[in-house]
Amino acid sequence: MRAIIVRELGGPEVLAIGERDDPQPKPGEIVAKVAAAGVNYMDIYQRSGIGAYKAQTPYTPGAEGAGTVLAVGEGVTEFAAGDPVAWAGGPGSYAEQVALPAASAVPVPHGFDLKIAAAVMLQGMTAHYLCNSTFPIQEGNITVVHAAAGGVGLLLTQMIKRRGGVVVATASTTAKAVLAQRMGADHVTSYDEFGEAVRRLSGERGASVVFDGVGQATFEASLAALRPRGMMVLYGAASGPVPPFDPQRLNSAGSLFLTRPTLAHYVADRAELLWRAGELFEWLAKGELDVRIGGEYPLADARRAQEDLAARRTTGKLLLIP
Ligand code: NDP
Repeated sequence: MRAIIVRELGGPEVLAIGERDDPQPKPGEIVAKVAAAGVNYMDIYQRSGIGAYKAQTPYTPGAEGAGTVLAVGEGVTEFAAGDPVAWAGGPGSYAEQVALPAASAVPVPHGFDLKIAAAVMLQGMTAHYLCNSTFPIQEGNITVVHAAAGGVGLLLTQMIKRRGGVVVATASTTAKAVLAQRMGADHVTSYDEFGEAVRRLSGERGASVVFDGVGQATFEASLAALRPRGMMVLYGAASGPVPPFDPQRLNSAGSLFLTRPTLAHYVADRAELLWRAGELFEWLAKGELDVRIGGEYPLADARRAQEDLAARRTTGKLLLIP
């Protein structure tokens, strides 16, 4: 089969198309034919060798996708050949076929567009846990969503709105601001002005929560935008990692909370995975959630997809089509 193969860590030029043996399912695994693979920021951290994300070479990138079951390993009873499935924990998804634990796969409702399923798994479940579990939004909570026109950002904005929160969003261009507003953001500002917008809206009190996947460039202003006992949810580092931090600062800034969550801990068991994915599929089917596919690339163009994502040229979800 064709797959992207990374032989050494580095810049986007290390993403090369090549040939690998077709995967065979081990006990407890399924093998799926990939209809679409999701491109995520994590794939960039991994390929660049940043911190805990550093990958062992050679490897095939990608964790997310949707497709059709080709074969099941010993002991797998939940899936059979021909079933539509999606996943956010399938290492090696930038490929024509992928093997993954059946426990990481989610059944896709029959007739559901597999591209949409692939587009919503990782960023959708992330947005879901951030505003339902990490900080369960309540009616009227003033929130900040950075990079609101991005993959996670557009979904998170919509999910905060459905829980009754107020979204102060950031975006770097007018076109991105318009998109974020269309998805429900109440106020869209530049990265320099969001603190001021929060102060005005909250009667100088501050935001209940900031969802910050930008990291280094926004961290300080995000902390300063919080109300006493507010929560800083640092969930990514698109602009680079936040430098070491003295926890004493949380005291003087208003007994703040700081968390650095990751999806794996919020789909900790099968029930939680099926709950989050199931709600996403349900909202999509009812037209209550809009997933924007901002770019589709042939598998061989994985390099261009990651370059576009890192250069802030994209909105919504990027997919690779094998
Ligand atoms: P996005 O589609 O949001 O792309 C990143 C966006 O970040 C850009 O479009 C850009 O929007 C903004 N940005 C701001 N500064 C920079 C910069 N210096 N370089 C690049 N981009 C910048 O990506 P994803 O939706 O895939 O991911 C968003 C964040 O969520 C990432 O940090 C990712 O690691 C994190 N994440 C975390 C998960 C978790 O469980 N912890 C799971 C999934 C994603 P603009 O141009 O508007 O500024």
